[in-house]
Formats: sequence, structure tokens, C-alpha cells
Amino acid sequence: MRTIRCNTLAALAACVGMAVIATAPGAHAETPPPLAPVGTPFAGETPDVDSAPLLKPTLPGTEPVGVCANGSTTMGISRVVEIDTSTGPEFGSQYHASETKFLEPGEVVLTFDDGPMRRYTIPILDALDEYCLKATFFSVGRMAIADPTTLQEVIRRGHTVGVHTWSHQKMSALGAAPMKREFELGLSAVAASAGVPIAPFFRFPYLAHGKSSLAYIRGRGVGIFGIHVDSRDFRTKSPGVVLRNVLAELNREKKGILLFHDIQPSTAGAISSLIAELKTRGYKFVHIVPKQPATTLPEFDAIAAKMLKAKTAAAANALATRAATWPVNDAATPAAADAPPPPAESARKPAPVRPASPATKPFDWANPSNDPWQLKSFGTQ
Ligand SMILES: [Zn+2]
Repeated sequence: MRTIRCNTLAALAACVGMAVIATAPGAHAETPPPLAPVGTPFAGETPDVDSAPLLKPTLPGTEPVGVCANGSTTMGISRVVEIDTSTGPEFGSQYHASETKFLEPGEVVLTFDDGPMRRYTIPILDALDEYCLKATFFSVGRMAIADPTTLQEVIRRGHTVGVHTWSHQKMSALGAAPMKREFELGLSAVAASAGVPIAPFFRFPYLAHGKSSLAYIRGRGVGIFGIHVDSRDFRTKSPGVVLRNVLAELNREKKGILLFHDIQPSTAGAISSLIAELKTRGYKFVHIVPKQPATTLPEFDAIAAKMLKAKTAAAANALATRAATWPVNDAATPAAADAPPPPAESARKPAPVRPASPATKPFDWANPSNDPWQLKSFGTQ
């Protein structure tokens, strides 16, 4: 373990810190970073509360200065763990024997899947800022294409962004080609929307990995993140239930990777008070960052770029339509009373874009939350 200064507001790639690296000797260091489960509650690892001091103290002098959106000069995180993903390590109790452990008792990692979705992602970012915390977001490719601005805001605030496939398919049910496409296009789409390199961190939708998808992603040098504590926020609209779920599981686990979804109102409503409660109980927050950025494949970058361009054009189109409906007088700033009425919510949404290929499943860009997998996700992960 070593200690390094960290500036987490710069892109995640600039962030280094106390490193507990999950790697193996001889890992591919040069080849393009060969890049890189089960909704059933896991058995959970045995908490070794007696074998280690409860918490690692924050080391004086290691906190980044002046990096918090709330104006604080003290980070809410207790340490930064840099992950070397070159060997495709796995984290989380879904992986049992193969799991790489990097957390001490009392330490938690906050993770948010399925977004970005502005309505819930932004309040979550605000809550994290309130405590000067950094989290990891596993974004869905087509959600990122649909809302690159929010994804870029996640990055701007210093969080780590990983990938959660292109369209939230159950990877274990896919053949080799569609499985590869789900992974690669997801990675390329999130990277293209972010506009900066992202982390080679991946989480399987529904926490459902298949043997071949696991092998493929591992071979790409991507870290695979399961979970230890499930908020089950997709099953409830109540922030209080989310809070109770997490506290109850943590009582048993004592530490771990916590799973939330930044498309869920229950989590958006719970996260601030949950963080406060975790702090009261003495939990420490760990920020995970990658040792090296994710490497995408050019053929999928090209598809992602095309989709992002189509989405941007659709958004510009919608703005043009709006301007035609409520013309803005460039010659003079209209008085407030003369200002055109705000467009209706529906008018503000970008026009749906139909994929060029009829073979591609239609996706409602204007209403990503209407997508079938998201509707289904209220009953799954
Ligand atoms: Zn998911």
C-alpha cells in the first residue's frame, strides 16, 4: 500500500492515491490494455471484524485541497484505491473464490448503475458533493448517448465512470457476437459521450455473467465489479426502504461495494440521509480509480460516434423547432413580460431518432426510461 497525493476533480485518470492493486505479476503493461452478476443476494464474505482495526485513518496531508464542490477543503473519502485491471480482476461476492478483496472492515464503495438520467443523477451528484464524496457510475451505453451532458457532469465532478453494456442485455444469454457487441459498443458509447477516457471498469446487468462473457471481458483487461450490498432500490419508491435495506445488509457484511441505480427516485431521495447515517456509524468511503484508462475498439468507436452525431443533430433539430415556435428576438432582449412562454415539457425533449438500420431495435431517445429493459429493471438489476 502506498500513499500519493490525489486531485480527484481532474479527470479520473489524474487521480492517484493509496493503492491496493489487484493485479498479477507479468500483467500486460503495454499491449493495448487488453481491456475488460446474479441478482440473487450473495452469500457474502465473512466479515473479519476482529482481524483488523476497524478503519484506516485518513492520513494527514493526503487530502486534496480545495476540490470539493461544497467549498470544503477536506475530502469525504478516506482513501483512494487505484485498480490495475490488466489481468481482468473480479470484485464482489458473486465471484466467491476469485474475488479480489481490497476493502478493510468499515469501508464502503458507492456505485450507481444504469444511468445517466438527469432527473436522478444530478440530485445524487449534489448529495455526493454535499459530503465531498466520490463514487463510481456504471453507465449504460445508449443512456450515455441519450444524455452526454449529464455523463460529462458526472466526470466533471470527479467521479469514476465505468460501463454497464450498450443496452442492458443479459450477457449470459447472448451468443458470442452479440455479447461482444453489447460490451464493446457500450464501452465505446460511454467513452464517446464522456469525451474523455473512461475507466476499464465493468458491471454485468442483472449481475449475470456467463462463462464466455466473463472470459472475454477479462481478456480485454477490464475490471469486473460485482457487489456486496444491494440497496434493492429498484423494488421500492421509498427512500426509507433503501436506507433500511443498506443498513441491514451492511450490519451483516461490515464493508463492501454498495449497489444503487441513478435511474431510481428512491435512491435519489435516500442518498443524502444514507451517507449521513453511514458516517454516524463510522463507515469510511473509498473511491476506486483505474490505473490505466479503458481502450476501445475503432470499429465500435465509429458506430458510437455516428450515434452520438445523430443524437446531437436531433437535439439541435428540437431546438430549431422550438425557436420556430417561440422565436427569440436577437435585436433586443425582450422584457420578461414579453418573453415567450416556456416550452411545454414535451417540446423540450429532443425528437426521437430512429436507428438507420431496421435490424436495430428501436430506441426512444426522447424517453429512455420507457425502454423495455428499464421498465423491466424495476423488477431486476
Ligand atoms: Zn443495471
